[in-house]
Amino acid sequence: MTKRILITGGAGFLGSHLCERLLKDDNEIICLDNFYTGNRDNISHLSGNSRFELIRHDIINPLYLEVDQIYNLACPASPVHYQYNPIKTIKTNVMGAINVLGIAKRTKATVLQASTSEIYGDPEVHPQNESYWGRVNPIGIRSCYDEGKRAAECLMMDYRRQNGVNSKIVRIFNTYGPRMAINDGRVVSNFIVQALQGKDITIYGDGSHTRSFCYVDDLVDGLIRMMNSSDDFYGPVNLGNPGEFTISELAKLIIKLTNSNSQIVFEPLPADDPTQRKPDINLALKKLGWKPNIQLEQGLIDTIKYFRNVLKIT
Ligand code: NAD
Ligand code: UDP
Repeated sequence: MTKRILITGGAGFLGSHLCERLLKDDNEIICLDNFYTGNRDNISHLSGNSRFELIRHDIINPLYLEVDQIYNLACPASPVHYQYNPIKTIKTNVMGAINVLGIAKRTKATVLQASTSEIYGDPEVHPQNESYWGRVNPIGIRSCYDEGKRAAECLMMDYRRQNGVNSKIVRIFNTYGPRMAINDGRVVSNFIVQALQGKDITIYGDGSHTRSFCYVDDLVDGLIRMMNSSDDFYGPVNLGNPGEFTISELAKLIIKLTNSNSQIVFEPLPADDPTQRKPDINLALKKLGWKPNIQLEQGLIDTIKYFRNVLKIT
C-alpha cells in the first residue's frame, strides 16, 4: 500500500538514497531539507516524479504535515560540519526531534530516529552492543552532536512512554558511498578525493584507531526494515558493517584501488576522537533479518567511480 513518508534531511547523503529507494517502492515522498550539508543535485533526478515533493524547511521550526511514516535524518553528520555551528547542531537534534515527534503524535505516524554509534563515545566495550550506555564527553567539541543525538533518543523514548508515539531508534555506524559531498570531511570521501587528485592523504593521529564502514545500500535496507518491523520492536538497534579496519588500512586500500601516487601524511588527532568502533549487529540480524552484504573493497570501488565522475577524473 502506498504510504506518505516524510524524510527530514532528505537531500543529504543517506536521505537522498532513502528517497530514491522508497519512491521505487511506490510511496509518496516528502523530502524536507534546509540544504546545510545537503544538495539539490542529490535529488534533482527525482523531481520529475509526481510522488516526490521537496520542502525547504529548517527542522528546528515546527511544521504541520499529514504523513504515515517519518525518517528523521536532518543533522549534519560530518565532524567538520557539525562542529562549525555547534549550537545549531544541538538545536537541530533536540528541537528537530520534538518537531517530528509532534507530527507523529498528531498523525499517529511511525517515526524512526537516525541515531549514531557516537552515542557510545570512546567505548570501553568492544564491539559495541545496544545495552552499552557509552562513554561520552558531555562538554567537548563532539558533544553538540553526541549529546544532541542522546537527547533525541531520550525524546523518542519519552514520547513513546508518555504519549504512545510509535518511535523507533537505529544507531548508525560509519556509512559511506556515492553522493557524499566532496567537501564532506569524513574519512572515506576525504581519502578518495585526495587520492584521485594526487594530494597528500591526511591521517589524523597515527592511523591505528579503527572504524567499521557500511555501504549506503546496505544501510538504507536496514532503515526500511526497522521502520516496517513489528510495533513491539523499537530498538535501539545498531546498523553497521562489523568489518573493522584501522584508518591506515583504509588509506592504503584507497591508494591501491585508485592507483594513486599520493603520500600519507600524519596530522594531529582531534579531541575526543574515538579510538575504536565496531558494531555488534546480532540484534539487527535476529529482529530484522538484516546484515550488510557489500564488503569494503566492493563498496569503495563503486564510491571511487562516483567521485571520478564528479571530479571529472578519467
Ligand atoms: P548529511 O550531512 O549528508 O545529511 C544531513 C542532511 O540534513 C543534509 O541534507 C542537511 O542539509 C540536512 N539538515 C541539517 N540540518 C538541518 C535542519 N536544521 N533542518 C533541515 N535539514 C537539515 O549526512 P548523512 O550522512 O546523510 O546523515 C544523515 C543522518 O544519519 C544524520 O542524522 C546523521 O547524524 C545520521 N548518521 C549518519 C552516519 C553516516 O555515517 N553517514 C552515521 C551515524 C548517523
Ligand atoms: N580521519 C582521518 N583523516 C581525515 C578524516 C578523518 O584520519 O581526513 C579520521 C578521524 O580522525 C576518525 C576517523 O578517520 O578517527 C573517522 O572519521 P570520520 O570523520 O569519517 O567519522 P567519525 O567516526 O569520527 O565521526
